[in-house]
Amino acid sequence: MAAQPRPPLLQVEDLEVSFALGRGRARVLDGVRFTLDAGATLGVVGESGSGKSTLAAALARLPQAGLAITGGRIVFEGQDLLRISEAQMRALRGQRIATILQDPLHSLNPLLRIGTQIAETPMVHERLPRAQAWQRARELLAAVRIANPEARVREYPHQLSGGMRQRVAGAIALACAPRLLIADEPTTALDPTVQVQYLQLLKDLQRTHGFALVLITHDLGIVARVCDRVAVMYAGRIVELGATAQVLRAAAHPYTQALMASLPTAAGVAGSLPAIPGQPPDPALPPGGCAFHPRCAQVMPRCRSERPPDVTVGPAHLSACWLNAEAARPAAAAERST
Ligand code: SF4
Repeated sequence: MAAQPRPPLLQVEDLEVSFALGRGRARVLDGVRFTLDAGATLGVVGESGSGKSTLAAALARLPQAGLAITGGRIVFEGQDLLRISEAQMRALRGQRIATILQDPLHSLNPLLRIGTQIAETPMVHERLPRAQAWQRARELLAAVRIANPEARVREYPHQLSGGMRQRVAGAIALACAPRLLIADEPTTALDPTVQVQYLQLLKDLQRTHGFALVLITHDLGIVARVCDRVAVMYAGRIVELGATAQVLRAAAHPYTQALMASLPTAAGVAGSLPAIPGQPPDPALPPGGCAFHPRCAQVMPRCRSERPPDVTVGPAHLSACWLNAEAARPAAAAERST
């Protein structure tokens, strides 16, 4: 009998996050869908306001001021995270699902020693005795390449550099060997040399520990270096999704194409997302049809009124654009007639 394909570690279906607006709701995430296999890395890229940080928080069901998850499913290890209690979710967070946020100063408690903060997770979730949890804290500091962990473990966050604080955030995230790590712009607050070291560390830790990684970033260079697959977000929707090499080499969606075309060098993908003309839409006043149509150089009449479907443009490569839908139609008709 042929082996059954393994289900993905994470399956997100039609995820919707919105905020109250008068008598209705405005969508910040609008029908987000993707899957992530165990041990794989998905980069989520988009301009500010595209919804990528909202997605990161929603995946871990972290509270977000004024926002609520109003639809869809987040199936992790076969369990829909939107159908379990907050107590069950708390048990998963820090154990099976971990997060690293942009600014470790906000995620670390300034009043507690580093060791206390790392040891807390295994003490709470695994009921590890204090001495063993502190020993694990020292080992994790060594794993994230902090020199002299015996001494560092007793220090407070303000005694560490920004790069070291972000490594400590990584050690906390790994304290209970998660299967999914969600990192929201983890290198933004670091200088470029430290950024490269930190990303290399993340990849090395992933190889050793085997977790899947959702990496939120506005930097296509980071996506090219670190991610197997990339999801390009615009106005709360994934508009292109595929293998990183494929998307960066042959972007199908005009938004991705515009981002690529505006990069400073054709030879290499590097740096933050460039500015493209126009502004991302206000979620309270989204344009009709394709949300990108006011900025799209290839806009067609139907783009202003009809929402484009997700279209398969290559192996495991999707694009939400009417151009791709129209190009796919003759091919599908030809296939049907053979
Ligand atoms: Fe541009 Fe139309 Fe495609 Fe939207 S659907 S990206 S407006 S061509």
